[in-house]
Amino acid sequence: MPQLSKRTETFTDSVIRRMTRISLKYNAVNLSQGFPDFDPPKELLNRLAEVTHEDFHQYSITWGAQNFREALAEKQSRFMGRRIDPNGEIVVTCGSTEAMMAAMMTVTNPGDKVVVFSPFYENYGADTILSGAEPIYVPLYPPAFNFNPDELEAAFKQYPKALILCNPSNPCGKVFTYDELKIIADLAEKYDTFVITDEVYEHILYEPNKHVYFATLPGMWERTISCSSLSKTYSITGWRLGYIIAPPHIIEVAKKVHDFLTVGAAAPLQEAAVVGLRFPDDYYRQLQAKYTEKRDLFLKGLDDIGITHTNPQGAYYVLLDISEFGFSSDLEFCEVLARDVGVGAVPGSSFFREPVNHLIRLHFAKRSDTLNDALNHLADIRNKIPARKSVI
Ligand code: GLN
Repeated sequence: MPQLSKRTETFTDSVIRRMTRISLKYNAVNLSQGFPDFDPPKELLNRLAEVTHEDFHQYSITWGAQNFREALAEKQSRFMGRRIDPNGEIVVTCGSTEAMMAAMMTVTNPGDKVVVFSPFYENYGADTILSGAEPIYVPLYPPAFNFNPDELEAAFKQYPKALILCNPSNPCGKVFTYDELKIIADLAEKYDTFVITDEVYEHILYEPNKHVYFATLPGMWERTISCSSLSKTYSITGWRLGYIIAPPHIIEVAKKVHDFLTVGAAAPLQEAAVVGLRFPDDYYRQLQAKYTEKRDLFLKGLDDIGITHTNPQGAYYVLLDISEFGFSSDLEFCEVLARDVGVGAVPGSSFFREPVNHLIRLHFAKRSDTLNDALNHLADIRNKIPARKSVI
């Protein structure tokens, strides 16, 4: 038999998605793959029901339905404080997963280097490999997950083609400050580098943290490819609606990549989501309040159990320290956790370049009763998972 492609040999399937399958197998409360178990806003569901009987069943324009792009441009112009042109500066994609892949293929050539902060959302590793690029990892140091500007500059000295910036950050919950973004911007300018952002948690922030769109920093619009999606903002992860916003000469190329990757995002779903894009600002304030409640409930529950954890400034993930259990494999710990405690988590090692094995990631985008259920299971964790002797 001929051999399968070499490029696929260097990465595994997604551990996040694998942990969802393991959670299902053990009937565990699944706090691994980050998606809500509550309904999207009813306006979207009502509109979706209407749309089934309307004329939206064939391809939309490949780079996104006009109505969707106009509503998105209006909303993002409001939040980004810059007029986004719905015709020249947007490509609608199948989730931000496709947006990121299309962005990578738009700016990099095989062999190009790409700066990635570690910990990082696992797709970026596979994205770089699939596009033939080579990641340069720069560590973010706990507890605040700050980077060392000298280490970042050392990465830029290798003349990377792009830097990937996940802000607010999955999995560490960091929200980059203006000053930190300015350091990145100055280096991007000095070394003539693109910045590809993943801003899917742009509306999930905890006071007093504020989201600054990287593209709005002085001089950065020209070199930023902003990727985001509707998945988290409107609780519709299964609709796979994402987008790229960038200057017209970049969008021209991204349109071609997207066209041949997927042709287009689902037309009826784009139409049904327009009502969400037209929501007033109050919707986003309520979303933030709702997630703040979830975060407070979940973190207080973890504190009561006495598990050390991160304090997210944004997004909906928390990293738990499992050192006390003495496992040498966090993957094995997560399997035991799902089987014996009944809670699904993602091993931290799937997010870190460094050999980190003492962290697991849980998410709290769930109804309060689901979170309480998970906390009740976790309360028994020390009985259900006896500590092993540490492997030195
Ligand atoms: N972004 C979510 C997570 O990190 C979901 C990822 C996915 O499966 N697309 O868990």
